[in-house]
Amino acid sequence: MRILITGGAGFLGSHISDLLIQQGHEVIGMDNFITGRPENISHLMGHDQFTFIKYNVCDYLHVDGQLDAVMHFASPASPQDYLEFPIATMKVGALGTHKALGLAKAKKARFLLASTSEVYGDPLVNPQPESYWGNVNPISPRGVYDEAKRFGEAITTAYHTFHGLDTRIVRIFNTFGPRMRPKDGRVVSNFIVQALQKSPLTVYGEGMQTRSFCYADDLVRGIVALLMAPNDGPATISDEQGVKGTTDRKVTIHYPVNIGNPRELTVLDIAKMVLSQTGSPSPIEHLPLPIGDPKVRRPDIQRAKSVLNWEPQVSLEDGLSKTIDYFKSIV
Ligand code: UDP
Repeated sequence: MRILITGGAGFLGSHISDLLIQQGHEVIGMDNFITGRPENISHLMGHDQFTFIKYNVCDYLHVDGQLDAVMHFASPASPQDYLEFPIATMKVGALGTHKALGLAKAKKARFLLASTSEVYGDPLVNPQPESYWGNVNPISPRGVYDEAKRFGEAITTAYHTFHGLDTRIVRIFNTFGPRMRPKDGRVVSNFIVQALQKSPLTVYGEGMQTRSFCYADDLVRGIVALLMAPNDGPATISDEQGVKGTTDRKVTIHYPVNIGNPRELTVLDIAKMVLSQTGSPSPIEHLPLPIGDPKVRRPDIQRAKSVLNWEPQVSLEDGLSKTIDYFKSIV
C-alpha cells in the first residue's frame, strides 16, 4: 500500500512509519515540526519506501499519485503542548482532519483518525468502553484537544456515512516509549528524565489519579491492525456495545476502537516504579494538580481483542526499562 501519515515525524507517527515500511508498504510522512522532530525519522531519510513532506496539514493538501490510505496523526498531544499551542491544536484537529478526509476521498483511500482517550474527558465510568460518551468540559484548558478530537470523530463518521469513505477511528490511551521528547511534559518522560538527573520527581496533586500505560510497540501494532482490518468486517461485537443513540444496529469496523493497556496504576505508583528501575536517589515533590486533570483512566479493550485479535504483550516493567535506556542515551 501507499500510505500518507500526517504527523509522520512525531513520537507515534515515526513508529508507525517504521512498522509499515518493515511490512513492505510505501510511506509518505508529513509534518510541520511543531512537536514532531527530524531526528525521529532521520534513519528513514533516503529509504526507497519513504518520502517526507514538510507541510502544515491545515493547508490545502495535495499528494501526487495514488494513495491507498491516509492516517491522520498530526496534533500536539501532550497536555503541556496543547496548552502552549491551543489554537494550532484546534486547527489541526478540525481543519486538518477535514483536509486529510478530503484527500482520502479524492484518492478513494482508506482513512484512519488518531483519536484519544481524552474524548472521555474526566470519566464517570471506569474502565471506559467505546460506548461511553464521556464527560468533557469544552472550556477547561484541555478542552481544545478534547473537543478537536471529538469534532474529528464526528466529521470522520460523517464522511463515512455521507460519502461512503472507508474510515477507522482509534482512541489512543496513554503511551510511552523511545522518541518521546525529554521535555514533552508527560508523566513517564518527566519522571525518567528527573530520575536520571537526580532531581525531584514532580507528582501533581496527591498522585492518586490513575492512568494505564501502553508501550509504543504494542500500540502501533494495534493501530496498524485496525488500518489493515477488512472493510466489510466484522460486526461480530455485541449489538449493544457502542450503538446506543445511533441508527446502526451493529458495530462495524468504522466505529471507534480503544487501543491501550488496561493495567491501571496511580501516578504515585509510576513514580515509585521509575525510582526503583533507575535506582535514582531523587525525592518525590508534590506540585498542584492541573485544572481538569482526569481522576481515572483505563481502557476497556474488549472490542480490540475481538475485532483485531489484539492485546498488549509488553509488560510495563520491560517497556520502562527500554524507555529508560533510550533516555540514558539522549539526556
Ligand atoms: N503528572 C505528574 N507529574 C508530571 C507530569 C504529569 O504527576 O510531571 C500527572 C498528570 O497530572 C496526570 C498524569 O500524570 O494525572 C498523566 O499526565 P500526562 O501529562 O502524561 O498525560 P494525561 O494522561 O494527563 O493526558
